[in-house]
Amino acid sequence: MRCEINLSAWAILKTLADGWRVNGRKLIRNTYATSTHCFLRLLLMKAIWRTGGAMIAAIMLLTGCQNTPSAEQNLPYRLESQRQAQGADQRVRFLVIHYTAEDFHNALNTLTDEHVSAHYLIPARPPVENGKPVAWQLVPESLRAWHAGASGWRGRTNLNDTSIGIELENKGYSRHLLGKHFYPFPPAQIDLLADLSQQIIQRYQIEPRNVVGHSDIAPLRKDDPGPLFPWHELAKRGIGAWPDAQRVWDNLAGRDPHQAVDKAELLAKLQQYGYPVTQEMNPAQQRRVIAAFQMHFRPADYRGEADAESDAIISTLLEQYPAGN
Ligand SMILES: [Zn+2]
Repeated sequence: MRCEINLSAWAILKTLADGWRVNGRKLIRNTYATSTHCFLRLLLMKAIWRTGGAMIAAIMLLTGCQNTPSAEQNLPYRLESQRQAQGADQRVRFLVIHYTAEDFHNALNTLTDEHVSAHYLIPARPPVENGKPVAWQLVPESLRAWHAGASGWRGRTNLNDTSIGIELENKGYSRHLLGKHFYPFPPAQIDLLADLSQQIIQRYQIEPRNVVGHSDIAPLRKDDPGPLFPWHELAKRGIGAWPDAQRVWDNLAGRDPHQAVDKAELLAKLQQYGYPVTQEMNPAQQRRVIAAFQMHFRPADYRGEADAESDAIISTLLEQYPAGN
């Protein structure tokens, strides 16, 4: 952080020369209001001054706190910000995980053209520089990236407005006779994702329920990050939601996990949890929503069948992560 005090270096020196007893307290109070960083610097200077190190203090002052005109000084008005409102919260509420479905080079080109973007792109095998793995930041978190498209979660739509988007380099899937074959995520990529996500979640106080995959918020269009994405592993590191196994067992209540349940009731619970379910959806679309939920929370079977285990899992999630917080 740069040290920007409103007083010129000479004014501060003069103040120092006049003695702390006369002007010191006022200077410190003014500086504290301007910058904690400068305040601490001044306190240090005061101590040095008292021990006779006037020259050192002067050098510190001239090198560290030069007369940099603050942004506020250039404004034709002054902003009073002593009183801060309580009725405010973070604009960012969601963290959305994607895979690129193409290699890093092509993904970087796609995500930096004028059509789509994401805040971060993590290579499958992140290069290491000075002992640290490297992720690409393509959009500052303060700006909206174009990664989610038409989307919905917990009644909100257009999640680009309120989310951070992370793209993982991953080929996605290839089609086989028996269906889609997905590709796994290397541990180094997931480790970097976990570290980055933990910071984002903490920065914006993102709820576990609001850490989602693209397929969760756009189930009719998207499959990413797919059934091999390690949601359970990440939940153990404090990232996202995961149902407690014992509670799922309790909610299964002796039913066969594959026993059919009422599809409308299951969809109502999925909608309550966050999934974008509408009355107009046809059976194929309803199946895709259930499959998206299963890819996230029961990746062993994501055919989209409305079964008792899915019902037990969503019931558990609703208990563990109640709405309204
Ligand atoms: Zn995506």
